[in-house]
Amino acid sequence: MTKPILVVGAGPAGLAATHALAAVGQPTILVEKEGTLGGAPILSGYARLVPSDEWAKDAIGKMVRRSVQSPLVDVRQDTRVKKFSGQPGNFTATLSSGNTVEVGSAVLCTGFTHFDSINKPEWGFGTFEDVVTTTQVEQMISSGKGVRCPSDGRTPSRVAILLCVGSRDRQIGREWCSKICCTVSSNIAMEIREELPNCHVYIYYMDIRTFGLYETKYYWRSQEEFKVKYIKARIAEVTSDGERLIVKGEDTLVKRPITIPFDMVVHAIGMDPNVDNKHLAEIFGITLEPHGFIGSRDNYANIAQTSRAGVFVAGAATGPETIDDSIAQATAAAMAALAQSHTSSASAAG
Ligand SMILES: Cc1cc2nc3c(=O)[nH]c(=O)nc-3n(C[C@H](O)[C@H](O)[C@H](O)COP(=O)(O)OP(=O)(O)OC[C@H]3O[C@@H](n4cnc5c(N)ncnc54)[C@H](O)[C@@H]3O)c2cc1C
Ligand code: SF4
Repeated sequence: MTKPILVVGAGPAGLAATHALAAVGQPTILVEKEGTLGGAPILSGYARLVPSDEWAKDAIGKMVRRSVQSPLVDVRQDTRVKKFSGQPGNFTATLSSGNTVEVGSAVLCTGFTHFDSINKPEWGFGTFEDVVTTTQVEQMISSGKGVRCPSDGRTPSRVAILLCVGSRDRQIGREWCSKICCTVSSNIAMEIREELPNCHVYIYYMDIRTFGLYETKYYWRSQEEFKVKYIKARIAEVTSDGERLIVKGEDTLVKRPITIPFDMVVHAIGMDPNVDNKHLAEIFGITLEPHGFIGSRDNYANIAQTSRAGVFVAGAATGPETIDDSIAQATAAAMAALAQSHTSSASAAG
């Protein structure tokens, strides 16, 4: 009989991998370090997702229920993998719970870590209470409390969203584009305008990357229907005049300095490699790509394969990814892991 497959991380990718395997009758062991399943959309309290417009708790909640209710998925919450040894088809994983499990292959769906805006101090986070992140605004919306200035609970009448915070920034060692934050920010801007029709919302950008079909649904719609204003700018600093936050920078289209007051400034934070990646690389004996995400061995023929045979990777563990792409990758990785596990057990038996 084929051994179970180990899936590490119960975000959208890990949940999709376990579901794909359960659908073909394959048992899995799903190891999640947190006490709650669902990954970033649940742990960080996202509101409505792009592009589905579904509430994260409903959309990802469905995926969680599907996995935990399956008799083929053995869920281990609050658990980490401590040791991993063996060969494809015949691995042994030691879990932090003290248990040892025999598995045929492994799929790493360990995701990303949100950029910590404290690493961009000149843009005011950590200094001014009303400088917040996109995840904080998502939480304000998903909690039903609405968008309010944290300092005194007032309704903001002017909000600035600063794009590329912790992405595309060589000065702080983050060269990558986080892929989804332009679209998420356009969506948040529309949600703020919908909730607070008198609030002026400005998006400060270097470039707009509402890729593919998102250009129409988010970028143009936010301007044409919701009157969100876009300013192409380089931001120098976020300060305060004692009453309001002041965003200073240069309008790079007209090449003039601009200084504009706001009630709230939102950092559109990027996706960092998971802080656990170095540790995961040691435990699983795999290599990371140069930015610190988990590297895959081949771009086309074996996209889900890490540098170690029998260990696969999917989702935001590989680099900034959207939820739907993470799900698609995880489904592919699950099938590759199953094929590897079958092939290895068949050759061991024969
Ligand atoms: C502000 C913001 C808003 C976003 N909104 C959207 C959106 O609306 N639509 C969209 O498509 N994308 C959105 N994204 C991107 C989305 O968050 C990712 O695409 C998605 O979370 C990736 O899923 P994942 O399962 O690969 O990783 P994650 O969601 O990061 O899940 C990884 C899981 O692995 C667990 N884990 C990590 N390390 C370990 C370990 N060592 N051992 C065991 N478990 C571990 C984590 O606890 C977590 O549960 C947004 C991103 C940001 C920053
Ligand atoms: S998606 Fe947009 S905001 Fe995010 S890093 Fe790329 S260009 Fe910047």
